[in-house]
Amino acid sequence: MSFAVTLDSLAFEKSSLVRRFEELIAPKSDADLESMAQTARSLTLQNFGRTMRLFAPLYLSNECINNCRYCGFSRDNPILRVTLSVEEVVAEARYLRGAGFRQILLVAGEHPRFVSDDYLVECVRTLAPDFPSISIEVAPMASSEYVPVVRAGAEGLVVYQETYQRAVYAEMHTAGPKRDFDYRLDCPERAYDAGFRRLGIGALFGLWRWQDEAVALAAHIEYLLRRCWQAQITVSLPRLRPAAGGFRPLFSMSDREMAQLVCALRISFPQVGIVLSTRERPSLRDALVSLGVTMMSAGSHTEPGGYTRRGSDHLHQTVRGRIIPPEFQDGQDQLATGQFEISDDRPPERIAAILRERGFDPVWKDWEQALSQ
Ligand code: SF4
Repeated sequence: MSFAVTLDSLAFEKSSLVRRFEELIAPKSDADLESMAQTARSLTLQNFGRTMRLFAPLYLSNECINNCRYCGFSRDNPILRVTLSVEEVVAEARYLRGAGFRQILLVAGEHPRFVSDDYLVECVRTLAPDFPSISIEVAPMASSEYVPVVRAGAEGLVVYQETYQRAVYAEMHTAGPKRDFDYRLDCPERAYDAGFRRLGIGALFGLWRWQDEAVALAAHIEYLLRRCWQAQITVSLPRLRPAAGGFRPLFSMSDREMAQLVCALRISFPQVGIVLSTRERPSLRDALVSLGVTMMSAGSHTEPGGYTRRGSDHLHQTVRGRIIPPEFQDGQDQLATGQFEISDDRPPERIAAILRERGFDPVWKDWEQALSQ
């Protein structure tokens, strides 16, 4: 049974676990929230120790055939675009390796002409010897299309549903194949069937009431833990950030609510990884570390070529799939446009030092895989 069946009946039928989760995210007094925080801290310690996995996104391309109202890469945005060559990807990856990273997330907009399956496989195969953990966040594919990507060396797949509300999803995704809600929703299972053993899901907070999104996310985690039982499940909690196109969040989620959500997830799903990106500002990231977050990006760039300024010599704009020369605005940096603005721009070594000061071990390389072989 697909998760869509569970999702569509969530308004009138919830599992006992999801009902308990819903109680945990209801408004709480300061004392109750502190008690939740203590439980979450202790469960995180029991299940993950004092470790924090560090990873970096590596953007391959910002071409996209979809229009997502909240995203700077949307096809109708007149941004500077580029798809890095494999050599340029290698240069970016070398930079990240030099900074200490052994876990990378390859990210690309959704454009089959620029980011073909073969290109993706070649990128993964070329980087695999240097990176024990490679995950991808690209256009959803069929299981058969995922198989060569896994064989090339990718082990993780990240796909956010963005919003679990069908009507909001239809309103936000105005053009392109991403409009197919169910195809995206079933993507983690297709990836699992192809051999991916790390599955990352998430909702983009700011498109709808966060509590409704969180309940759907919890139900999705519960479903995937059963259906994809051999995979490690991680959950990301991105809040909308300013991006090209000027979209602003429609619904707010306070820092306190974000902290409560992290605690509720940890209490409900003690073994699920919780991922925090550089979208959040430094003080909040530092505060959430001890509550349940287990994986953080650091020193991130969301523009292809952003680490080494590679790709700037073939920047362009894309109009209806046609490449046209770029029009630079006065004073504009001649670098591809990023997906969204970063809040925490501290370099990775600074983040690692702060983690150590707080008693955490920053983990650049994931040893689980080697130990389980
Ligand atoms: S969210 Fe993804 S699919 Fe949508 S415009 Fe951005 S890159 Fe493209």
